[in-house]
Parts: sequence; C-alpha cells; structure tokens
Amino acid sequence: MFESGLRLRIPPSPTGSLHLGTARTALYNWLLAKRFKGTFVFRLEDTDRERSKSEFVTDIIEGFKWLGIDWNEGPLRQSEHKARHQMVVNQLLENNLAYECFCSSEELEQIRISQRALNKVEGYDNRHRNLTKQEKDNFRAEGRKPVIRFKLLNKAEITWTDLVRGKMSVNASDLGGDPVIAKDNGDVLYNFAVVVDDHDSAINCVIRGEDHLHNTAKQIPIYEAMQWEIPQFAHVPLILTANREKLSKRKHGDIASISNYLKAGYLPEAINNYLIAMSWQFPSDDHKEVFSKEEAVLHFDLKDLSKSAAIYDPLKLNWFCKEHFQRLSAEEVLTRAKTGGFLEALNNLKEYSPDEQLKIISLMKDGLIKLNDLSNPASAANLLVFCQAPNLQDLKEEAENCLREPEAKIVLSELNNLLETLADLNPEIVQKLLADLAAKTGLKKGKKLFWPIRVVISGNIHGADLVALLSILNKNRLQERVKEALKYLEM
Ligand code: GLU
Repeated sequence: MFESGLRLRIPPSPTGSLHLGTARTALYNWLLAKRFKGTFVFRLEDTDRERSKSEFVTDIIEGFKWLGIDWNEGPLRQSEHKARHQMVVNQLLENNLAYECFCSSEELEQIRISQRALNKVEGYDNRHRNLTKQEKDNFRAEGRKPVIRFKLLNKAEITWTDLVRGKMSVNASDLGGDPVIAKDNGDVLYNFAVVVDDHDSAINCVIRGEDHLHNTAKQIPIYEAMQWEIPQFAHVPLILTANREKLSKRKHGDIASISNYLKAGYLPEAINNYLIAMSWQFPSDDHKEVFSKEEAVLHFDLKDLSKSAAIYDPLKLNWFCKEHFQRLSAEEVLTRAKTGGFLEALNNLKEYSPDEQLKIISLMKDGLIKLNDLSNPASAANLLVFCQAPNLQDLKEEAENCLREPEAKIVLSELNNLLETLADLNPEIVQKLLADLAAKTGLKKGKKLFWPIRVVISGNIHGADLVALLSILNKNRLQERVKEALKYLEM
C-alpha cells in the first residue's frame, strides 16, 4: 500500500499540555511506523500565536520522551512554514480556487440567525465567492480587511476509505460553507496549514482522533485543488469518561494530561500498555493484556483497532499499573524511585542499608500504582511505617479501639520484655518471638495478638506481612515504638 515507504506524523498544538488522547494517537503512529519501518514526523502546530506557549512545547516533548515515543524527523514547527503557506494561498487565489471574503462578524451572525429561523444547516453562504473588482475596492475603501476562503467545490459528498472506519462519506453541505484558510492578518488556519505541511512532509498516512472527521472532509478538497496526492486516513476512537464525555483537561483536570502521570511516578510502560489496549487487543490466543509497546509492534495493525469509543477507566488503569510494578525487580523500582525524587519525603529511609532498602521495596512494590504512593499515607504500599512512628494521639477509631482492648497492654508489655532478651531481628527470630508472645499471653495468633503490634508500628490494623515488617524494622525501632505505646496507654 505504501510502496515509497510509510510516512506518518503527529502534529500536536502547543496550546496545552500533552493530552492522553494525543499520546495515544502518537503511540498508534509509533507502533505502525516501527512495524512497517516507516518514517515518523513530529511537528508542532504552533500557528496560534496567542495560545502557543514554550512551556507546552517542553511538556509535549518531555511527555513523548517519558513514554519512549521517538520520531525520525522534527520537531518541525508550523510557524516556520509561513512563507510557504502564503505561497500556496496565493496559488489558490490565482487559480480562482480561493477568494477574499469581506463579511464582517455581524454579517456572518446575521446569516446564521436567518438560517436558524428557517431551520437550515448553519454556515457561511459563500456570498463573496464572485465579487467584482469594484465591489472588493468598495469594501477596502470602507476599511474592511478580507479573510481568504477556500472554494469547496460543489460536490454533494466527500468520501474516503478510512483505515479504521472503512467507507466514509461526509455531506458537503454539513461543512459550514467555504472554510476560511487565512485570517485578515494573514495567519493561516489549521485545516489549510495541516494539508500543506503534511504534503510537504510527504505524509501518506494520517492517523488522528475521530473528532477530526469533518476536518478531513474539509482537507480532502484542498489536496484535490492543489492536485496533491491524498494520504490515507485513519480516525481512531476518542477517549471518553464513564459518562461518555470527551476526556478534557478543562473538564476532567489532571487525569487528561500525561505530565500528571509523569509527576506522580506512574510507570511509562503501564501508561503505554493502558493506552494501546484501550482500542487494541494483543492477537495471541490468550489475548494477553499486559505487554510492552515493543511487543505490540510485532502485531500492530490499524485494521484491528476498535471503532467504538475508548472509555477511561481508573480501576483498569490501576490494574495495569500494579501488573507492571509486579514485573519490575525491587532494584529497578528503587532506582526509579530514587532518580525520580520519590524518596525525598522519606528521609529516614537512609538509615537502612541498601540491602534493607531492597527488602523494603520488595515487600511493598506489588501493591504500588505509582511511585508517589511510597510516601502517601492513603496508599497501602507506603513506606512510612519504616520511616516514622505513628502519631498515637491521632489514630483512626478502629486502631484506637484495638489499642484500648485490655489484652493490648498485656501483649505490648510482654513484647517489650521479650525484646529485652533479643539482639537483632530476622524472620526466624521474629517467628519465634511471636510464638513466645502467644505462649506468654495465652492468646491465639490472631487479631488480639497481632493488631496491637500493627497499630503501634504503623497506626493501622492492616498492612504488609508482619514477620517481614518486624524483621526489617529491627529491634530498636520496634522497641522504641512499643515503649511509646505503653506510655500512651498509661496516660
Ligand atoms: N494540531 C492538531 C491537534 O492537535 C492536529 C490534528 C491532526 O492530526 O491533524 O488536534
């Protein structure tokens, strides 16, 4: 299909941070480019001078790098192609394929009002398509400056075969009349600039979100007018929220931006997996769900993309995150946590030897969703238990009640006595310690025995494996916390 070689592109506008949907479209491009040894072009569509910001350029580039999405050409900047855009506008004007339109915004609004009254499709009525020189001069004399509109040829339908959605057809009368391609200050608009730039980069396959279907219908006639080869189009389904709203940064906040996931310490491989799997299934017999983007490259094809909307499901995302943490070694998690600065809030972790730190991570990593969970008290996989004694004055009700049980005091005093007889702890010693404690207190190895210990070390009645916890905490920290609790109970 692409004898001269597949050429793909991702052209985000730096008017906001990298959106999850753009990252997903970039991934599908990347997968196809890798699979078919194509060329992937990265272009920044920065023609909107007011809204484009350099911090968003940085955010987009960092986001792609974090996800491991690399490109072969670029980043190109649309704003640097101004002269070329102007040249093509002039060419269209000369060939009578575009024209100057002097309508004021009030006139345009008036057109819409009358269309609405007649229940007609709203849009520009192409009234300035055939102005005489005299008419144009008169408008100019009034001080009006024209926009440039492209003449949508009088076709009933614009059709193409979409690589995801199959045969597509858009009614030309639904496109809102001849589209503006250049504003009265000369700035060109998206639907025009994208065609020129895609053509100049010899793009032969355009993959983008389904929200661009109407834009594609506006762009095809520009290719035709310029007698340029029309690329293949593939429109991928949008990401919607559970109540079927388009996922947007304005409405849904941080969850829509890649930078949020980066900052929170999500694993990029988990985000990639989640985004790819939103609309694509791994074609093995077992439809394996957990895979790397490199594994997906071996099988990825646009025709296998689902046509239905992708639903953003935070629970599913968390599932992918845990799966990927479980597949990483403790060494790798520790390195990423350190280099990403996720241990800074856990200063006391430095008191543990490198070997102990690895044990700590091994104990917790399978429950992690993101690296900032390591210091988040609300996460079951936080490391706070190792770094600070709980604040007994501020226990949750269930923990406070547990400590106030008459047996709790007995358990803790006996534990304190037994600890006096021990030096360092290790799993075998802790096993024996707990057995001795059960014997001394006459309590079974159950919640009466274990929960008070858990509360004094962590403030919670639940947590990671107690034997592992106690042996890593070791004697001094454990005894300090037990003594604190005994004092607290005396108060
Ligand atoms: N700049 C456009 C956007 O960010 C590009 C759309 C396209 O792929 O053509 O939505």
